[in-house]
Amino acid sequence: MNKLLFKKLIAQTSDNPISLEISHANGVFLHTTDGKKFLDFISGIAVSSLGHNHPKVIEALHEQIDKHLHVMVYGEFVQKPQIEFAELLLRQLPSKLEQIYLVNSGTEANEGALKLAKKYTERSKFVAFNNSYHGDTHGSLSVTGRDVYRDPYLPLLPDIHFGDFNSLEALKLIDDKTAAVIMEPIQGEGGIIPAKKEWLEAIQEKCSEVGALLIYDEIQSGFGRTGNLFAFQYYDVTPDILCIAKAMGGGMPIGGFISSKEIFQAFKYNPPLNHVTTFGGHPVSCAAAHANLKEILGGDYLQRAEHIEAKVKEKLNGKGIVEVRGIGAMLGLELVSKELTEKVVTKCFEEGILLGWTLHSNTLIRLAPPLIISDQELDHVLDTILSAIKLFVD
Ligand code: PMP
Repeated sequence: MNKLLFKKLIAQTSDNPISLEISHANGVFLHTTDGKKFLDFISGIAVSSLGHNHPKVIEALHEQIDKHLHVMVYGEFVQKPQIEFAELLLRQLPSKLEQIYLVNSGTEANEGALKLAKKYTERSKFVAFNNSYHGDTHGSLSVTGRDVYRDPYLPLLPDIHFGDFNSLEALKLIDDKTAAVIMEPIQGEGGIIPAKKEWLEAIQEKCSEVGALLIYDEIQSGFGRTGNLFAFQYYDVTPDILCIAKAMGGGMPIGGFISSKEIFQAFKYNPPLNHVTTFGGHPVSCAAAHANLKEILGGDYLQRAEHIEAKVKEKLNGKGIVEVRGIGAMLGLELVSKELTEKVVTKCFEEGILLGWTLHSNTLIRLAPPLIISDQELDHVLDTILSAIKLFVD
């Protein structure tokens, strides 16, 4: 009944949605209305990093809901959950990342970052990368590096130049007309491709040479997924603007972009109020984000992400898999063909394990487990993947 209404009333994005009907979710498990449970090995696509319904997040939500919901558009009233979250987050970051602009989603964070870079530099050219994904609103889509998604919506923003990820050739695109370079330090939808450290350093150097800003989209790689709070800390290359969302709210919708006070001045003048939002930094989402961050910092989640990487690589490397790649718990399994990838994901689904795909690759299985997963659960998933591969390859 509900499944029919889902297809009839909810606008669909493909002909074959997963269509699980969720009754409740807890920890690493999703429970369905027909009594099945699924181990969520993709965390709602890199969102529920502390598992579903983390008790600390739920407690903070109840506390805030009892006080107030929305009271005023972003930036006008002093709201404690915003301040508490910002204070804790910014304390973890290098000094030039000193203020946050709060929004509701990843794509809004990127939209804001692009506008901020334009306004601050008074330039309009952007450099982005092939196979990147930055979101589906017009600005973010303009810097997304995959024609099949861009072409139906042309014309998009002008003066966007795409280079190859990890290629030094791309540096030639960055010049004194460039407002910013926007990139994921680890490409997510592109197939879990980590950048090379020397390449990131060279891009940063070129940006500062020509006065272009460096924007890191850490919407997928942030909040502990890579074994660091952010991937830029792993690489030790600090961007001028850092975009965040997804796991930020512990399951609640929230995003943000972080930069220096000097750069953010651009939003304040000529004219004032030139970038505003109604719901950005919603107090309930901020309370969840604060509890979520406190929990990440107080627990051993970052070490767990490293442990997950070591275990997955040790167990799966060479076992009929072309490549196991990624950092921390942001991992991908490259298989020999699209057909095998589909069969393995389907077989694991039948066994109660939810694995994922990425938007730009059909030969890659995405692994983004909750960082609370136990060794026993992890072993079970990896054994199931190995048996599935064996079943279809032998
Ligand atoms: N940037 C990256 C790197 C992402 O992975 C995503 C979401 N997959 C986005 C931006 C867009 O985020 P949202 O869906 O919250 O708009």
